[in-house]
Amino acid sequence: MIDPVCGMEVEPATAAAAWEHEGTVYYFCSVGCMERFREDPDPFLSGDPSGRGM
Ligand SMILES: [Zn+2]
Repeated sequence: MIDPVCGMEVEPATAAAAWEHEGTVYYFCSVGCMERFREDPDPFLSGDPSGRGM
């Protein structure tokens, strides 16, 4: 899994934090990353280089 905030690779088993958004669980390297995502997830999701749909 990739931390969508900082781009770091994180293992779900060892991730410092996880947050569900629109049915998908995202994992984070730190609680700070999770809090940034939780406050405003859209910029991190739209920056996804895999570019799903739209
Ligand atoms: Zn992070």
